[in-house]
Amino acid sequence: MCGIAGYIGHRQAYPIIINGLKRLEYRGYDSAGIVVNDGRQFGLKKTKGKVSDLEAKCKDLPSAHVGMGHTRWATHGVPSDRNSHPHLSNNEKIALIHNGIIENYDSIKKVLISKGFDFKSDTDTEVLVNLIQFFQDSENLNLTDAVRYALNETIGAYAIAVMDADDPQEIVVARLSSPLAIGIGDNEYFIASDASPFVEFTKEAVYLEDGEMATISLHGGVDIHKIKDNAKVSLVIQELKLNLEEIEKGGYDHFMLKEIHEQSQSILNTMRGRLLVDEGIIQMAGIWDFQEKFFNAKRIIIVSCGTSWHAALIGEYLIEDLARIPVEVEYSSEFRYRNPIIGEKDIVIAISQSGETADTLAALRLAKEKGAFIYGICNVVDSSIARLTDAGSYTHAGPEIGVASTKAFTAQLTILTLIALKLAKHKGTLSKERFNTLIAELETIPSKVEALIKNVEEPVKKIAENYAGVNNFLYLGRGLNYPIALEGALKLKEISYIHAEGYPAAEMKHGPIALIDENMPVVVIATKKGHYDKIVSNIQEIKSRKGKIIAIVTEGDVQVKEMADYVIEIPETSSYLVPILSVIPLQLLAYYIAILRGSNVDQPRNLAKSVTVE
Ligand code: GLU
Repeated sequence: MCGIAGYIGHRQAYPIIINGLKRLEYRGYDSAGIVVNDGRQFGLKKTKGKVSDLEAKCKDLPSAHVGMGHTRWATHGVPSDRNSHPHLSNNEKIALIHNGIIENYDSIKKVLISKGFDFKSDTDTEVLVNLIQFFQDSENLNLTDAVRYALNETIGAYAIAVMDADDPQEIVVARLSSPLAIGIGDNEYFIASDASPFVEFTKEAVYLEDGEMATISLHGGVDIHKIKDNAKVSLVIQELKLNLEEIEKGGYDHFMLKEIHEQSQSILNTMRGRLLVDEGIIQMAGIWDFQEKFFNAKRIIIVSCGTSWHAALIGEYLIEDLARIPVEVEYSSEFRYRNPIIGEKDIVIAISQSGETADTLAALRLAKEKGAFIYGICNVVDSSIARLTDAGSYTHAGPEIGVASTKAFTAQLTILTLIALKLAKHKGTLSKERFNTLIAELETIPSKVEALIKNVEEPVKKIAENYAGVNNFLYLGRGLNYPIALEGALKLKEISYIHAEGYPAAEMKHGPIALIDENMPVVVIATKKGHYDKIVSNIQEIKSRKGKIIAIVTEGDVQVKEMADYVIEIPETSSYLVPILSVIPLQLLAYYIAILRGSNVDQPRNLAKSVTVE
């Protein structure tokens, strides 16, 4: 779950790599390191901490035209200088950076120790670099072959980049389950975990597939082979759509705040070309081409993790209610390990912002093996999930850098709404009139989001000031707002480190009500169309126990306003679309509380954006 960035060509390698690492820091940020080759030897710097800490150590790094860097998210061994990547082989001739986990590192390590190797770190990664040296020495192999031999002994997940001190003209890379992109310039090459480090240099990229490795050199270009049998793979160059402004902060203090504000635009982008209100249609080839499969499916299972799992819960409500197809929602990690019963009549939908989430990817592979039709909802184009699935829909929310997901979530909700409406229309479970009314309402959502953010940001800041010091928060909602309660609690936990729980409001009296006293803020999502009367009763129950109520209500609400300590109004809309609006004040509340508590909101502790480890 780390970031990899590398360069080989005619420019200075260091600035390209360090800027690349900054863009990738969302992927992992407990340590960072870089190695360059000035034509005579390696220059290597690494440190616990952030890319900025690394930068401070790099003043005397030699000038070089080839190098590679890493930001780490530790899996084996604490974050420390010596556990940071790059790792060197015992003879200090090979440098390696790695994203992933070498599962059989322990047995390889024992063999290498018996052959006289010693280890300087606690990482799984270090065995790989020494194994490469071992094959180079014992079989007299060049770097590419030695890497291939070593990888064939390895079980686990990896994206790696390897350099040889004696060959400053070459970098060897490989992937299995962790992403790796190669940017192709004019006799210069870039490597990175995603294309963001090199967008300003080239628009051409090659994405390595699982089980492939590439030798990248100035004399030979990019030479791709299968790791297993060395079979040659032809180069498929793709054109990048990413632009630089999209991955910079654009005047906001944090990516998260920028991404919250971008939501009216990102939702519009998700609907663009799909929602054609005047023609009364939703255009989605992935659904249209396979609609019979959907109509005849025994059930749909949605697999996902974290925020995407909350989107999945809302997807379940929408698809069942509108299209009358049974839906189950599963945590990817649980699904894959419990020997699930899946067959050819099942559809498995995966939701993942990055499209690289390791557990979701594995759950999908399992479903595919068992014959299910697999569908992906991802934000990152050409990601592993997108490439594995039979069909899918991109969310097109643009790059999401803040670790706490915001705009990717509302884009996922938008896609799920489009899917549910389209299925319902063609299946005949929704009348034409009702369909037309709903899509017309959906079209108004981006402007409602914009107005909502404008109206609520200041009031939310005030609420944040009053509650930034508390230790616990409770979030309650019903129906479609229940997953929003979960999401609101998750956002707060992730970035402010305040303990928060989300609950279906009616479940409160089966336990959590015991927690309520005058010190407990309770966020209640009490919008007009979400079981309003029932939730009003729940608010009464909290009030009677002196809990503090922060209510999210529909514009013009009177009843809840009288009871709540604070009220945040959201625009009126269809009940199916409320979640896209009701989550936004909760994102802002988490953000402003985290700021007041001095947290690093874009890079909260212990988290990483793209969870490519299990
Ligand atoms: N497993 C390796 C380590 O702990 C790599 C982790 C990563 O992907 O950053 O060092």
